[in-house]
Amino acid sequence: MRTVAVVGASLAGLSAARALRDQGYDGRLVLIGDEPHRPYDRPPLSKEFLAGRMDEADLALETETDDLDATWILGTAAAALDPGERAVRLGDGRTVRTDAVVIATGAAARTLPGTERLSGVHTLRTLDDARALRADLAGAERLVVVGAGFIGAEIASTARALGLHVTLVEPAPAPLAAAIGAEMGAVVAGLQAGQGVEVLCGTGVREVTGTTRADGVILTDGRRVPADVVVVGIGARPNVAWLAGSGVEIADGVLCDATGATGVPGVVAVGDCAAWFDPAGGAHRRVEHWTGAARRPAVAVRALLAGASATSGSSGSDVRPPEPPYFWSDQCGVRIQFAGRTGPGDEITVEEGSLADRSFVAVYRRGDRPVAVLGIDLPRPFTRWRKRLAAEALQSAAP
Ligand SMILES: Cc1cc2nc3c(=O)[nH]c(=O)nc-3n(C[C@H](O)[C@H](O)[C@H](O)COP(=O)(O)OP(=O)(O)OC[C@H]3O[C@@H](n4cnc5c(N)ncnc54)[C@H](O)[C@@H]3O)c2cc1C
Repeated sequence: MRTVAVVGASLAGLSAARALRDQGYDGRLVLIGDEPHRPYDRPPLSKEFLAGRMDEADLALETETDDLDATWILGTAAAALDPGERAVRLGDGRTVRTDAVVIATGAAARTLPGTERLSGVHTLRTLDDARALRADLAGAERLVVVGAGFIGAEIASTARALGLHVTLVEPAPAPLAAAIGAEMGAVVAGLQAGQGVEVLCGTGVREVTGTTRADGVILTDGRRVPADVVVVGIGARPNVAWLAGSGVEIADGVLCDATGATGVPGVVAVGDCAAWFDPAGGAHRRVEHWTGAARRPAVAVRALLAGASATSGSSGSDVRPPEPPYFWSDQCGVRIQFAGRTGPGDEITVEEGSLADRSFVAVYRRGDRPVAVLGIDLPRPFTRWRKRLAAEALQSAAP
């Protein structure tokens, strides 16, 4: 293997490049990224950076010890992958010849149709988005956040701490309900309300109003909420359109086996764009969290260098299942941590701390099997439970 191209120059791409060098690959390494920036960290964009407590230099993901000896092509998108010709075609007409490809193109924020013509409506995914939102919030008094997933809820919390009047609108019964369930989501609603955020759950947004600039939203229940700035935080879709016609199988993300290998030999996918096969759940799942984007590339690179050419959907019986997904979220002055996956009907018990103190660890069980754990401001016991979940996942996958 003389050339490896990593497409997507952010957390997963950089982690893959590091893993390639760490695992002994000494050939040519090309990183291709459509943003003009060197890799930067996204989690602070909705927290410290938005609050003005961190500047752009603090976001850098590369460290002084990184010695990747790589060719960087930044500010240029990959437009197509041609495995037959072993080539990545770039948007500017150039072609990068390569023996193997790591797909790490992440995800893009979903937008609300009909808002394109209005200024004052933001999504938050990139550094450029964060710069624009930070500038707009500086002159604003009222913010409406549409969607109370973890990014929307964090923006609401940060803006409230900056002194804005904030309304958080969410069609689900509670913030973070898709990730942590409605029961524990209600605890987050309490945290947000306690901080002074107006939390409106169980209602969507029918329309963002304004002629050239947004001046409010009309909810599906008919209420009108005025706003100087509107943030749309309704999730992200994987950046996979460039792979059309490549033979790489796509569903909600790039379909991979349990090591990140796609059905096309020499092509793996990592990070937010990748849906790895989860042997425990028997399905492909896309994980949009920092830790997966940082850790899974080492697994995928091992498969790539070993020349593994699995077909997507294979479970690879000798393969360790990926760690249970994990994310953290800082909002309302607390750290929320969650590992595993919850579904309807899981039974939730508080194992340590208490809801009243807003500091606890809750375990989700299906039957008598723990399937997920939530921690609020109790990192040590949370980490113990997280390790236990990982051990149980390994055990249940053992032949
Ligand atoms: C505001 C914010 C806050 C977050 N906070 C948390 C948190 O608190 N905890 C947590 O666990 N996770 C958090 N996350 C999620 C975490 O940041 C992501 O999981 C992580 O960034 C995924 O890394 P990635 O490299 O897979 O994708 P991305 O970071 O999306 O990077 C993909 C890169 O590929 C580029 N690209 C796309 N298409 C092409 C193309 N065709 N050619 C070349 N380049 C392309 C993109 O522009 C981008 O630069 C947060 C995310 C955001 C946006």
